[in-house]
Amino acid sequence: MKVSKRAQEVPPSATIAVTARAQQLKAQGVDVVGFGAGAPDFDTPDYIKDAAIAALKAGKTKYTAAAGIIELRTVIAEKLRKENGLEYTPDQIIVNIGGKHSLYEAMQAVLDPGDEVILPTPYWVTYPEAIKLAGAVLAIVQTNSANSYKMTAEQLRNSITDKTAMVVINSPNNPGGFTYTPEELSGLAKVLEGTDVIVLSDEIYEKLIYGDTRFVSFASLSEDACNRTLTLNGFSKAFSMTGWRLGYTAGPLEVIKAMGRLQSHMTSNPVTFGQYAAIEALGEPADEAIERMRVEFERRAKYMARRLNSIDGIKCPEPTGAFYCFPDVSGHYGRTINGIEINGSMDFAKALLEQVNVALVPGLPFGCDGNVRLSFACSLEQITEGLDRIEKWLSQ
Ligand code: PMP
Repeated sequence: MKVSKRAQEVPPSATIAVTARAQQLKAQGVDVVGFGAGAPDFDTPDYIKDAAIAALKAGKTKYTAAAGIIELRTVIAEKLRKENGLEYTPDQIIVNIGGKHSLYEAMQAVLDPGDEVILPTPYWVTYPEAIKLAGAVLAIVQTNSANSYKMTAEQLRNSITDKTAMVVINSPNNPGGFTYTPEELSGLAKVLEGTDVIVLSDEIYEKLIYGDTRFVSFASLSEDACNRTLTLNGFSKAFSMTGWRLGYTAGPLEVIKAMGRLQSHMTSNPVTFGQYAAIEALGEPADEAIERMRVEFERRAKYMARRLNSIDGIKCPEPTGAFYCFPDVSGHYGRTINGIEINGSMDFAKALLEQVNVALVPGLPFGCDGNVRLSFACSLEQITEGLDRIEKWLSQ
């Protein structure tokens, strides 16, 4: 059967592909260390599971309003006000089927064919595809290690054309593991003043920050920033709820309404009993449940970065957010290891997996071929074993 040009042009997700290959090897009995995961390795906290079970038993099993139940949107509005300094009414919030869906739907709601979207490297693999599926054109901004892979105000200024419709900002960042400081974000916000450029601020990792890192929501920087921003967030990362598929978008009413119209035809509401559990997720036990995971991630972040930096030819900034190290491994490019020539991140990841059974994600699909991504959403024992193998492999 014929496949549309649009679908033919979408590549499979590189991150999911690595996880699938590692799982295949595991199923064959191979002892694989997996650094590919984009999901916390903790279980969803019990109080959230209990709330879902109670909702199911109470018969919360039918359609709801397409944009999500008003009770949940009200609780999200309160969360955004209290924690993020953002004033949104519940009808300026839509609950989507995961942050990925929020992103796709937001792009569909605001972009037209030919619009340009500024996307700084390294970028999460889904952004380029969601942008292209909306008919828009990528304007990639190549960042560098000297600025911890963050886009500068000057780079943003130089990338804006009369076709620029949007800039994507993801902080804390997947795959970069960095977080923009409030000052850096203010610098970017100033550049946008007087333009019509929309900001898509992906804040899904906001709770996972380390050391003295401070998180601020882009829309909280000023009234101007608020009016141009779509704030994207979700339950997957902070609450370890990746399988629940719950994300949300907050922004100007006309855009949220447009997303609601799209959603009413695309998927209708997110899973009903999941929405009721999400209300509880944001309740009182949240802080403690999140903190327990955050502290563990912080311990692993420090350890992984230290170990990586102790390997010759590898440079890795210590992560300030999310759960990824994104080292520059290009010092090893040009080498031949056990008969395989390493000429880029794809070769590096493939050889590492095939030769010593360590799975990580090449940087190329994130727009940075000099780097690879290692997730530390796995136990410290696994991290130690995986880094021992990498160290030994590279020292041959
Ligand atoms: N944004 C970023 C930067 C992510 O890394 C992810 C998950 N990998 C998402 C959004 C979406 O997560 P979900 O669809 O599980 O809510």
